[in-house]
Amino acid sequence: MSHEERESFRQQGILLTSFNEIYNWGRANSIWPLQFGLACCAIEMIAVAAARFDIARFGAEIFRASPRQADLMIVSGTVTKKMAPQVVRIWNQMGEPKYCIAMGACSISGGPFKQGYNVLKGVDRYIPVDVYIPGCPPRPEALLNGLMEVQKKIKAERLTGPDAPRHLRKDLPCEWPVPAYGEHDLVPPKNDSVWRPAPSLVRADKP
Ligand code: SF4
Repeated sequence: MSHEERESFRQQGILLTSFNEIYNWGRANSIWPLQFGLACCAIEMIAVAAARFDIARFGAEIFRASPRQADLMIVSGTVTKKMAPQVVRIWNQMGEPKYCIAMGACSISGGPFKQGYNVLKGVDRYIPVDVYIPGCPPRPEALLNGLMEVQKKIKAERLTGPDAPRHLRKDLPCEWPVPAYGEHDLVPPKNDSVWRPAPSLVRADKP
């Protein structure tokens, strides 16, 4: 049935939907973020929860203190190598389906501390990131935009078939290896099943 036909039914007070659609609609509008922050980006995240930006408008105001009750991890701040194992462990403790936003330059790539010996060059080396929000720090509106991108992703998910999301596929892992300290660095330095190095940029010869 086309969108126009459904609209004409809706105008007559008849709402047509599918189980897939209503299931995703409910999930997308009741996201519970995990209540944790790592550095200055967390202040912007806190602002999003306050009255001026009011994340409650998107049904996501219930920041949970327990990973067992949260389905969105907002990595808001610098992930040090000391903190990385804890972040992965908390991610593992969250139940599926779960989503991850990398908020700010630090969580995406290490940001201004990229060259630091103690800073992880992107949380996506260990856990799968669904939405990246650039900025140092990103404004609260950018986080709300990132949340809407997560909602779009949830609404587009299929419950069956080869395009089913990770939490419905038995062949994909639901536990991620927690890195440990080695002699010089974290071991393993990355999780190959979630992180791929960016392709090298080749500079074109100048004419
Ligand atoms: S991206 Fe900038 S504002 Fe955010 S945690 Fe890093 S240094 Fe702080």
